[in-house]
Parts: sequence; C-alpha cells; structure tokens
Amino acid sequence: MPANLLRHIPSVNELIEHPQLRALRDKVSHSVVVSKVRALLEEVREEARQATADIRLPNVAELAERIARRVKQSDEPRLRPVINATGILLHTGLGRAPLAEEAVAEMTAVARDYASLEIDLRSGERSQRGDAVEGLLRELTGAEAAVVVNNNAGATVLTLAALCAGKEVVVSRGELIEIGGSYRLPDVMGASGARLREVGTTNKTRLADYRDAVGEQTAALMAVHTSNYVVVGFTESVPLADLVCLGRERNLPVIHDIGSGALLDFAEFGCPGEPLARDSVKAGADVVLFSGDKLLGGPQCGIIVGRREPLAAILRHPLMRALRVDKLTLAALAATLRLYRTPEAARREIPLLALLTTSVENLRNRAERLAPQLAACSAIASADPLADVAYLGGGSVPTQQVPTWCIALSPRNISVERLAAALRTGTPCVMGRVRQDRLLLDLRGVMPRHDVDLVSAVAALGEAPPAAEPVVSSAEEQPAIAE
Ligand SMILES: *Cc1c(COP(=O)(O)O)cnc(C)c1O
Repeated sequence: MPANLLRHIPSVNELIEHPQLRALRDKVSHSVVVSKVRALLEEVREEARQATADIRLPNVAELAERIARRVKQSDEPRLRPVINATGILLHTGLGRAPLAEEAVAEMTAVARDYASLEIDLRSGERSQRGDAVEGLLRELTGAEAAVVVNNNAGATVLTLAALCAGKEVVVSRGELIEIGGSYRLPDVMGASGARLREVGTTNKTRLADYRDAVGEQTAALMAVHTSNYVVVGFTESVPLADLVCLGRERNLPVIHDIGSGALLDFAEFGCPGEPLARDSVKAGADVVLFSGDKLLGGPQCGIIVGRREPLAAILRHPLMRALRVDKLTLAALAATLRLYRTPEAARREIPLLALLTTSVENLRNRAERLAPQLAACSAIASADPLADVAYLGGGSVPTQQVPTWCIALSPRNISVERLAAALRTGTPCVMGRVRQDRLLLDLRGVMPRHDVDLVSAVAALGEAPPAAEPVVSSAEEQPAIAE
C-alpha cells in the first residue's frame, strides 16, 4: 500500500457535514445516510489497502455524490418482477411458480382489508385458519384432513416433531435427498428431534430392510420421492403399498414426502413420473407432504394431507404456530386450488401449466417474430430463433426436459456477460441464459404478454449498456438472484 493513503480518507463526520449530504439528511433519516457513508468509506479504505501503485482517492465532493446516488438507488425495491427467459420454469431463485390472476385478485382483496381468517362468518364463532383450504384439499386429494404450513421443509419438521420426536423414523438410504441450498433431509429430520434410522443401500432397499429395522423405538416409516435425481441400473425400492402393509402390521404411520405435489398427471405435459398426492392417499399413506409452489403452481407453502388422527396431532403441536401461513398465502392457495376443480381452467389459468402446455409451434412463431425486432436494437449484433430444451427445475428431476424455442442474441461491442448483466438490472428485468458468446432468451417461461417487454428491455439498453459503478465493487449493486 502506498504510504499515507489511508490518512487522506475523510472521516464519517467530515462527509455527513458536506452540504449535499446535509440536504439529504433533511429528507431521509440520519441513520440511513450514516450507514451508507460508513459502508462506502470502508470500501475506499479496503481499496487503498489493496492498491499497489499510487491511486487517486475520490475527494469529499465525489464521495458525497456517490453516497447520494446510493441512497436514491436503495430506495428502489430490491425485490422486483423478473421476466424468466432462463428456460427453468420453477427457478427457486426467481420465486418458483408465478400465480394465477385469480390467486392475485383474492390475495389483493384480503390484503387491503380485514379478513375472515379465524372467524366462521356464518356462526360468528372462532374457526381454524386452515378452513379456507382444507375442504378443497380434501376434495382434490381424497384425504380426510389437511394442514398448510410455510413450506415443505416446515411440513417435514412439523410432521416428524409431532409424530416421531425422541423416537426413530425409518428411511431408505436411497432417499436421503438434498434439494439445493440448505435442504438436506437428514438435517431437517435432526431439527425435528426424531432419529433417522437408515436402511438398505443407495441403490437397493427391500421391504425386509424396513422390517428388520422396526423395533421398540420406531415411530414411523417414511418414503421420500427422489424428486431431483434418478437412480438407474441395478436398483430396487419398495412400492408405497408394501410399506403401507408393513405400517399397518406394526401399527406405524407411513409418511410420504412427494415433493412437487402435482394435482394433475404431468405425463400429459410431457413430464411423466411425478407422483400425485391423490395416489399416495389412495395407496394408504397416513401423511402426505408436498410444496405449494412447485408443480401445483401456487404460493410458497407446505401442504400436509392424510388421515384425521395424525393430522390432529400435527395441528396441536407447538411448532404449528411457528410455521403457520398468513391470510395472503391462504387466499392465493384457495384460489389456485379452486381452479383445479375444473382441470380445463387449471391448464388455462395457472401460469405454470399454461406455460407447459404452450405448443412448440406457438413458441417458434413468437421466436421468429421477435428475432428481427431484437436484431434491430442497437446493443444487438444479431438475433436468431433457436430450437432448444427447457427444464422444469425447482427440485424436479433434471431429466424432465421440455422442448422450447429461444432467441439467441449476439451483443454488439460488449461481452455477453455485460449484456446479461444489463438486462438483469434493466427495466423490466430480464434473465436469460448465457451459452458461449450468445445470450439465449428462452420463451418457454415467458408469458406471451411479456413478448413486447422483452423487446423494450433490449431496446432500452441503447448503444452501450450502463456499466457497473467503477472503482469500488459492492454487493449493493448486484442483483440478489442465485439458484
Ligand atoms: C422441494 C422438496 C422439498 C422442500 O420443499 P420446500 O417447499 O422447498 O421447503 C422437500 N422434499 C422434496 C422431496 C422436495 O422435492
């Protein structure tokens, strides 16, 4: 580090007394300005420490200007709508399933006003908040009872805590899954206070393995849909019905985590092998767990359906209160479920299903129509329609591929990474996928009403898309999106 550089960096006080920041403090709170000042000074100090040659430090006026800009920027929401042209339909980083208009309308209606969340309007008596969706879930899955919590991880912890705490739950080694980020089934089980009893091997587990493991300490048998991988080759697993027989024989509940929670057979959308909640209930599983924001196409939540007695124990457990959902989630879920009563309406109105059922010809026509419009934008050297494959994603099997059409963009004068970054931070936000030196905009996840927005987002980039702020790099300017 060049000598004395640090001594030339202004103090926090010096900066906040600068006229520009003094004026700013009349509008936004003192603590907001001070925290931005501190953060920027820390970055400048860090940079000075790293510097090998003489660098010119920004002066007080320049720093004040930059802080004012950051305060203004941080006033804009960090959570923004995104046009998903990644080709991953259920992208966890993009909030998984978009909601149906009906769900948005019902959510908005109860958001703005008070709502009958725990009041039965007919009797005027206190009711359960789950009543808003329980009847619908019973109807659609054939189960005796239903409970909704924050997400499927929460549903798993709650179920195991209520039914198996201090005791053992028997699971096949082939089903101890990890679903991206921090979801590892053994860890989730640990958090519930239940002990995991692994049986079988990675590729083969037989009914006898479960039977041999059952003893005094056993509280439940659990089966988990290996939703994001497939074990192929020399394999064997136990059909749910056989596990149910063993459970009945030993008087043990069978818990089935099916993951995605399809309510329609996804084979009709070209994605076979996704378990249906209805089938698990019919096969005799006592408790069935699934997510609301995967293949169901609703809001983030965890859905528990099954027999009355275990569900009553789950509802009574103290963790239920910690994991309960709010009126917004319940309204969105109820509206989504109501669409499933008429499968035709579900296919048409639930965005995920509508996107999946869009014909390849439709995507191709749109790609061919959009390509010349995108090619005409000044940031783009060429734009070509391209047939490719999209993925369901969001913890579903990577082999679940869907045919799609993209527009492949070659940038003019800038790198493809810079083009991708400019579209991510532009208005509207667009996320595509980079392949070699082209940015693909995949139409499988783009609603037709957003076609025009794709063009305006690219057109808005102009000749030279805005660069990231120079000198200091800061997490602040990065979009918070990661799969
Ligand atoms: C996705 C998934 C989970 C986690 O669900 P969240 O709703 O994300 O908490 C658990 N189990 C299986 C089998 C899954 O596919």
